[in-house]
Amino acid sequence: MWMSTVARLALPALQRSTSAMTRQALRACRRPGPTAAPLPPCLVSLHLRGRHTLESASLPVSRHLVRHVRALDDDRQMEVEWEDGGHSLYPFTWLRDNCQCPLCTLQSAQARTLLLADLDIHTGVDVVEVTNDNKVSIVWPDQHVSVFDAEWLKKRCFSPAARLAMQEELFLNRRYYWDSTLRIPSADFDEVLRDDKAALAWLLALRRVGMVYLKGAPAEQGQVARLAERIGYLRLTFYGHTWQVQDKPMANNVAYTSGKLSLHTDYPALHFAPGVQFLHCINQAKEGGESEVVDGFHMAEQLQREDPEAFQTLTSLRVDFTDTGTDYCDFMLQSKNCIIDVDADGRVVKINYNNATRDSVLDLPLHQVQPFYRALKAYVDIMNRPENVVTYRMEPGDIVTFDNWRLLHGRKSYISRPERLRHLEGCYLDWDEVMSRLRILRKAVHEDL
Ligand SMILES: [Zn+2]
Repeated sequence: MWMSTVARLALPALQRSTSAMTRQALRACRRPGPTAAPLPPCLVSLHLRGRHTLESASLPVSRHLVRHVRALDDDRQMEVEWEDGGHSLYPFTWLRDNCQCPLCTLQSAQARTLLLADLDIHTGVDVVEVTNDNKVSIVWPDQHVSVFDAEWLKKRCFSPAARLAMQEELFLNRRYYWDSTLRIPSADFDEVLRDDKAALAWLLALRRVGMVYLKGAPAEQGQVARLAERIGYLRLTFYGHTWQVQDKPMANNVAYTSGKLSLHTDYPALHFAPGVQFLHCINQAKEGGESEVVDGFHMAEQLQREDPEAFQTLTSLRVDFTDTGTDYCDFMLQSKNCIIDVDADGRVVKINYNNATRDSVLDLPLHQVQPFYRALKAYVDIMNRPENVVTYRMEPGDIVTFDNWRLLHGRKSYISRPERLRHLEGCYLDWDEVMSRLRILRKAVHEDL
């Protein structure tokens, strides 16, 4: 039960932050014993148009009324008192910089035209007041007037809680970690192409869970490109706009053989590896060829807990990767990446690991070589634990869509049918484009509701 797994693993984070309705639903699926309520439909499957994921996608909009505003001249801040008793502070400089009037903002692009050269970063204010239609009006010392919408201000409140909520709404950084008990979320290929709610549920699950299975695509080339167009455009690499995973003579990549592929992310030989991968099964093997995946972020969290020294090593030492050959055109790539990338807050954001393209050039001082191997082995050992690996077998018409910055994937060796080679078609996208489509769909679906 993928959602119940999700609920179990992600419950603390969810309880902190999702709507009351989702919390209630999650409580329902945790109740033990024969009287346990059945899993709420919204938690069972994406076929129910992703209500669960929609719930946690953004905060419900409630109207915020301004009770009072005043200028705190000594601090150069404006204080807004809200009808619910809350307060927000906004620096004068920031308010002047973000004036929404047609002189300061190009309305058609929603882009700032006010130049920094013309911004007085020590400005005071002449008048601040609440207008009759619940807006905040500011008259500046040069008599320029700015009018701010209350809702707009509320969302941009500088309190830690408001900033956190805004960042979560923009980037959906909260993830549901999983292990071998994951039931992969799935959706219908045609519905995702046709229906905005289905497409939104797909992308939300792709972001939160890291992986979604689409069923029912025609078993012929060109489908991953159609799916990429649903989002925006695909990411061109040296392997082409899309690429054919088949057993090829003189293969320029280990994927183009019938051998086993150990768990890896694609393309660590690039400094900016593709964020998202689609793989479409056109023909499956006669024997073998099962796919394997692990949640690299969850595995990194386990490593940090079990072996903090190894985690520290893999998040700090940069490793050389290389990829040379000819495909879309000739290429000779070199990169340096940490196996585990963390952001400024220490949050794991990207895994870079492919044992096939890890270079024999290893730019480390001698004394760090053995600790590096020890750390990498510790991480890979955790990944290979049976309780962490999800195994599935693609059938013709199936498309797996997954987070290439997070999941590590592999396949078992295979024997093709004599008359038909095993054949997958793949393509890449980047998270910027995927998140862009997700935000547009969310806006469209919520306005629809
Ligand atoms: Zn202005």
